[in-house]
Amino acid sequence: MNADVEKLLTLQEREARKLTLEAQLLQVPREVDKAKAKIAEEQATIDADRQALKEIEVRRVELDKEVQSLETQVVKYKTQQMEVKKNDEYTALGHQIETIEAQIGQCEEQEIELMLQFDEQTKSTAETEAAHKEQIRLFEKEIDRLNKQMEAVQAEIGDAVTAAEAAAGDIPAKWLEAYRNAQHRHPRAPWVVPMRDQHCGGCYLKTSGEVEGAVLTDKEPAHCDNCGRLLYRE
Ligand SMILES: [Zn+2]
Repeated sequence: MNADVEKLLTLQEREARKLTLEAQLLQVPREVDKAKAKIAEEQATIDADRQALKEIEVRRVELDKEVQSLETQVVKYKTQQMEVKKNDEYTALGHQIETIEAQIGQCEEQEIELMLQFDEQTKSTAETEAAHKEQIRLFEKEIDRLNKQMEAVQAEIGDAVTAAEAAAGDIPAKWLEAYRNAQHRHPRAPWVVPMRDQHCGGCYLKTSGEVEGAVLTDKEPAHCDNCGRLLYRE
């Protein structure tokens, strides 16, 4: 094999590695975003549970106020009752007092129901909240791992670039230019491929006799006439 082609193969390997690492690097922020979205979901569940508790408590306080205001009314009607002279007025007030006391009873029953609900919900919220917090902790750990991975990949890319530059510096201009032309046509490796039985090792199509001759002579860069990759004799 031509010594310059050997150098090109080294360059190709390093540049291909750089591209692979860059593709990996693009994936990492997406994974970080996914983990962040999961954390937000867990947090939203925690918040919703807490909100549900708060609403029960708000409703209970409202009922409490209602009971107080109804009790005030009862006191008022009882005072009026003592002041009235007529029997029918006395009885009418008595009915009103009964109605209000029945309402108070209903409110108090609801209050007890809400207190039971509050206790149950508090217990289950504490359990599920611990589970959600544990999930959050795991996702945060994952983000930490991804950030470290990103730094490691960035460092590897730096190494690959340095190594590629070192390899490129050693290659004669006409070979390097031919290689860059092949790269220009193909975003991904390989750009330098072997020719086997007059077939291109990149696109697998048959090359022309002229190209085959050039490859076999192994003196000048020769491109596949189908895909433009640089061909070499093994
Ligand atoms: Zn080809």
